[in-house]
Amino acid sequence: MFSERRRLPVFEEKDFHDILQKVGLLKKIEAGKLFCSKCEIKITKENFGALYIPKGSEDVAVVCNRSDCLRLIAEDIEL
Ligand SMILES: [Zn+2]
Repeated sequence: MFSERRRLPVFEEKDFHDILQKVGLLKKIEAGKLFCSKCEIKITKENFGALYIPKGSEDVAVVCNRSDCLRLIAEDIEL
């Protein structure tokens, strides 16, 4: 899924809303209460990186768009 490093997921504004709503995170991000699961920075629409489900978890987690964080979740998923 993350094998092609240069192409990261890009969401259209509407898709972004729909996806966040589906996973129940829209209210959190709008309230400023959504944080990167790796570096714990506050997630906004501007620095949103990716959604993923950590290995061994059923909850959706979010990371910011820093390459370090995106790389960490790729490892989380592939392990
Ligand atoms: Zn981060």
